[in-house]
Amino acid sequence: MKITNVEAMVLTCPLDKPIMDATYTLPHRSAVLVKVDTDEGLSGVGEAAYFGGPPLITKMIIEKELKEYLIAEDPLNIEKLWEKMYQRTIKHGRKGAIIASISGLDIALWDIKAKAARMPLYQLLGGCYEQIRAYASAGFYAEGKGLKELAAEMASYVKEGFTAVKMKIGRNQAEDITRVKAVREAIGDDIDLLVDGNNAYTSYQAIKLARKLEEYDIFWFEEPVPAEDIEGSAAVAAAIDTPVAAGENEFTRYGFRDLIINKAIDIAQPDVTWCGGITEAKKIAAMASAWNIICVPHSFSSAIALVANLHFSASIPNSLLQEFDRNYNPLRENLLQEPVTINKDGYIELTDKPGLGIELNESVVKKYRVD
Ligand SMILES: [Mg+2]
Repeated sequence: MKITNVEAMVLTCPLDKPIMDATYTLPHRSAVLVKVDTDEGLSGVGEAAYFGGPPLITKMIIEKELKEYLIAEDPLNIEKLWEKMYQRTIKHGRKGAIIASISGLDIALWDIKAKAARMPLYQLLGGCYEQIRAYASAGFYAEGKGLKELAAEMASYVKEGFTAVKMKIGRNQAEDITRVKAVREAIGDDIDLLVDGNNAYTSYQAIKLARKLEEYDIFWFEEPVPAEDIEGSAAVAAAIDTPVAAGENEFTRYGFRDLIINKAIDIAQPDVTWCGGITEAKKIAAMASAWNIICVPHSFSSAIALVANLHFSASIPNSLLQEFDRNYNPLRENLLQEPVTINKDGYIELTDKPGLGIELNESVVKKYRVD
């Protein structure tokens, strides 16, 4: 089998009302979808993260730089192709948009390989779980959104069947405590409550805050400090009882090696659209397992990103949960012919269809495509 074409599509849906975390405002929901075609009629799809920059940059990297390394190659030799893309881009890559672009292509190659093997991707990758417990990822800041609205929003996910929910903190420590208190009261004591600081604090601020939040039984404290502050993250992890989760802003096994050996994380959060694809995420998970670290993929984009992360999650023994963004996003809710949902126990079930097991709604692609 030979690769005959590589294409990236930019989809954008502007938001009427931007949503915000502690450090970032999101004015639109976008995604860079990736398609790889072969001479045997099999095609694979993937998604490359664009976060932090215009999605068109990611498309350009895929089509103007990486494409030529893949054309005429056998798509089944994924390790070979990953290494080729990584080594040829190393002088201006290793992290950021280049690795995110490689990630999207890598996912599409795995989709092809699993389709060729007539197996669901998670089984081809090892097959560990047939369903993964999802946590509702939401509780953002928005203009005019107060405590009452936040509490009602988080309670609504519990009503939908989620047994774990994540909310944003990080703007102000006093406000964090009132927000968490309101949400804990709204969801009750039996639901796992996760908080995400989005890199907002110093280590001493995060430690002081985490101690005050302990009475609300926090499942994990995500990204308490800037991604670059590995020592600070380690200081937080050592000082508090709540586990520290991070990794959405880290790339490749080399980046996660540094988080792990410096004891900066209790829970690793690679995202297959960002960290180097499924090929690299599997290595990160294996490395994490050697330190008895649980791996819970980050996912905050289209349905393709969600499904790809889910296959990865279901293929590793040291997974636990899957992030399931609940903010408005038609690229997640409407992109697939069969949208991703949770069952009555709050789990997402894996497909028995080959590859990623998804069919795109072409009308939705057309509606939001901007490139
Ligand atoms: Mg996060």
